[in-house]
Amino acid sequence: MRWWRADLHIHSTLSPCASLALSPARIVAEAHRAGLDLIAICDHNAAETGRYVRRLAGATPAVLMGMEIQTAEEVEVLAYFTDEESALLLQEELQASLPDIPCDPELFGDQVVVDEREEIVRHVERLLLAPVDLPLSAVVRRVEDRGGLAIPAHADRVPGGLLAVLGLFPEGEWPLAVEIAPWTPVAQVTASWPGLGTRPILRGSDAHYPEEIGRAWTEFYLAAPTLDELRAALRGEGGRKVRPGPELKEGR
Ligand SMILES: [Zn+2]
Ligand SMILES: [Zn+2]
Repeated sequence: MRWWRADLHIHSTLSPCASLALSPARIVAEAHRAGLDLIAICDHNAAETGRYVRRLAGATPAVLMGMEIQTAEEVEVLAYFTDEESALLLQEELQASLPDIPCDPELFGDQVVVDEREEIVRHVERLLLAPVDLPLSAVVRRVEDRGGLAIPAHADRVPGGLLAVLGLFPEGEWPLAVEIAPWTPVAQVTASWPGLGTRPILRGSDAHYPEEIGRAWTEFYLAAPTLDELRAALRGEGGRKVRPGPELKEGR
């Protein structure tokens, strides 16, 4: 086993709020620049870009299929999958339950699927940056039923963070871990939210611009950079470990 550096929260051209420079080719180049071993592309209620990033990345970085789902309570949850089909089927279900608001590029930005050759596959018409018509518990169940892992995104952040929105930590086993914002010190989160217990704290870049990729990261001590290994590390199994990188000094 060894340490692997991961940034599991990267947006692409498919997020209306993200830069149109975030094509699969640019994402892979920036991941190499940042020395990342493992990445996940998490667009708002969308998973599609991940498949094209995978085709380019080869062995390094390893690429998980991902998504940042906005629940009916407006809590944001990161979902990770190994196989493309599970992620894309869930994407289809979620997008069907989005409010029928067209994405006006002037107002919201473009939502473009770009492939591994830098070619536009399609524009997504319905606005993706909106809550799906499913509560948090149903979103988590759907992710897990399809073999995925659901983790609260930037849990301390207003808006969208689980802890900030709900104001309390859910009872039960879920979540296995929480992601915190790139600039929040770990000690601040553990002091504010004792309900976290011993759950691991993760950090991701939430990159909306190319240069932000890898600005925040988490290291995992694993046998291989796979979702099963990652899940085992979050449970602390077999000597696997998790270590969030340092906080960014500047907020945004
Ligand atoms: Zn965004
Ligand atoms: Zn995000």
